[in-house]
Order: sequence, then structure tokens, then C-alpha cells
Amino acid sequence: MEVLVRPGDSFWYYSQVFSMPLPLIEDSNPDIDPLRLIAGTPVQIPGYITETYVVQPNDSFWSIANRYQSTVEQVQLLNPNILPNQLQIGQTITVPIRVSQFVVDDPGQYTYEKMQQDLNQLLTIYPFLRREQIGQSVLGKDIDEIQIGRGQKTVHVNGSFHANEWITTPVLMRFINEYALSLTNGRPVRGLFLLPFYQTVNLSVVPMVNPDGVNLVIQGADAAGDRKEEVLAINSQQADFSQWKANIRGVDLNNQYPALWEVEAERKPTSPAPRDFPGTSPLTEPEAIAMADLAKTRNFARMSALHTQGKVIYWGFQNLEPPEAEQLANEFSRVSGFTPIRFIDSYAGYKDWFIQEFRRPGFTIELGLGTNPLPVEQFPEMYEETLGILLANLYMP
Ligand SMILES: [Zn+2]
Repeated sequence: MEVLVRPGDSFWYYSQVFSMPLPLIEDSNPDIDPLRLIAGTPVQIPGYITETYVVQPNDSFWSIANRYQSTVEQVQLLNPNILPNQLQIGQTITVPIRVSQFVVDDPGQYTYEKMQQDLNQLLTIYPFLRREQIGQSVLGKDIDEIQIGRGQKTVHVNGSFHANEWITTPVLMRFINEYALSLTNGRPVRGLFLLPFYQTVNLSVVPMVNPDGVNLVIQGADAAGDRKEEVLAINSQQADFSQWKANIRGVDLNNQYPALWEVEAERKPTSPAPRDFPGTSPLTEPEAIAMADLAKTRNFARMSALHTQGKVIYWGFQNLEPPEAEQLANEFSRVSGFTPIRFIDSYAGYKDWFIQEFRRPGFTIELGLGTNPLPVEQFPEMYEETLGILLANLYMP
């Protein structure tokens, strides 16, 4: 929601009037110097939307504010050109509405476009969220990263490396939404107030690493555009793409990393396939490259990749993981009920490469139980279990 600066206004004053933490107002207006507010400048107030109200007989600013659980001060700020004692019947007034509901409320068939819609809404309501395009998919879709927080320590999570594990995307989107709701409403999540973590942690989220693959699984071959014949050929002419894990070229993005890649190349498919083909060499695919570049530029303190299924947490790679990886895995396990597992006979994944490259804690976390793609009916339980892990990611040192 936007207000126009009046002479004498300050971010501190807006923070009081709207009961909104000052850092969130500052970060929602990155181009404005709080010490040099200029009258007439539009300022973003996070956590609010507006509605238009038509003045009725006997209305006053006070009665209108009351009707919307707002205050006279708020209504005055939004209507700087209307004098309270000159309200006219039929005149329109802008009223603020505090957002207390989720935007991300439908995890079903969560395509790239559905994610974009939710992201656009979240960024409009919560301008302190930062979106960056970290690369493009084979079909040219922007791969989005969302960052939340002003801390020096960057903690990263991602979802949908594997196409038919797309339910991990709405899990992350819902969490971004819950984090923003908690911050703007001063509402704790599981007893935790999150503003201190906003100050000390920078959370980086890539909710959909493989957008082309996700749309292929959900929408079928038409989602592949010019590559329709190619994906049908790779899929043995089957119209059902529910078993597809790869990107649109039939390369398994989580087998693309130079961390014992040769081991996988030796025993996995040698040509494009719905799953497991590691490519002709490491890091040939734009989605995998974008994620490698991101890890390098952001200097992640730790990283978690969400997959399905199994309710397990993989946390080791060739003894290269640091000691704190075990403590983190144990805490993740405690809050989710998932089983921590150190080693697995699987290589060339993002987690493997991350541990090898940076010697920092990296995790592959398998949500839910059953056969992929997991039914959306599992979402509520899956979200609750994962929420514990995502919070631990913020509060663990
Ligand atoms: Zn997976």
C-alpha cells in the first residue's frame, strides 16, 4: 500500500501509525533515504492493501475508520486531500486493510504461472521481499530467487529440482507467505517471533529450479512448445508425464554436478530420459548452472534442497561435511520426525557438490511418503513437518 509523504512525516511515524516494524518499512523503500523524506514522495507500507469506500450519510473519518478496524490517523494519511469536516455523501475514500490471510492458499497443480501469480501478489503486499532472476530455463522461463532478511548470514533452500516433485514449490511459497505474515502482524510462528531472524539472517529461496519440467508434468506435452515431439519421443510416446523428473531436454538436474559425476554417468542412462540421465558432462543445463552460480555468488552458510519422498534427511558426502552438519540434521529430524541419514549411494547432486565445494552443511530433504508425484492431499501435513525444518534453518546458529 502506498502513502504520500506529508511535511514532517517520518518512517518512524509510519511505523507507529501502522504498527509495522521500522526495518520492514525501510526495506520496502530501498530507494528512499529515511532522513531526507520529501513531501509528495510515494512510500510503500508493507502488510496492507487498500479498498475504496463510498461515503454514506452521517459518516465521519472516525466511523469509517472504525468500520475497517483502522484509525483516523491512517485514513487521513491515505486521503491527504480530503478535509475530515467536509466529507460529502457519495465521495470515495481510500481505506487501509491489514492483510492477515495467506495469499498462497491453493497448492494444487502448482504450475510456473501459478507461482508467478502468487509471487507477484506477495511482492506487492510485502515489498521488503526481494526477487531476482538467477537464470533462465531451457524454454526461457526466468528462474526466480526470493530473499528475505537483512542479515549477513545467507541460508538457502530450494524446491522442484525434480519435475514430478513440484509439491515442494508450494511448500516453500507458503513458508515465504507465513514468514511475511508473521513479520507484518507481529504474530509468532510456533511460539517464535521472527523479526530477530529477519535482522540476522538473509533467507534465499529458489522455489522452482525446474519450471519447464514442472509444467510438463502438470500440463503434458503441450507445455514443451517447440520441444513437444522431442519430449514425447523421450517419454516413449506416452502422454502421461507424471514420472518425469528431468528438465525439458531429458537431463536430470540433480545429477548434473561435478561431485563424482563420473560414477553416475557410468551407471545411469546415456541419453535423454524422463529421469536419471546426468547429461553428456557436468553442468550442461542452464538450470543447473544457475544454481551453481548462485551458490558461489551468495556464499550460502548452509543449503537445503527439498525433494519428495521418504521423510528422510541426507546430510553427508564423502566425509567432507563439517561437524555442525550432524547437529543441524539432528535438529531438523527432531522438529520434523524425519530420519537423518549420512551417506547414500548417490552422487552428482546439488547437495553433494555444495558440501564438496564449500565444506558447509548441505541437505537433501525428502518430504512426504508414497509414490511421486505425491497427492496434494498430503500438503497440509507435509507443510507442518517442513515448517519445523524451515524455522530451525532460521534459529540454528
Ligand atoms: Zn528428487
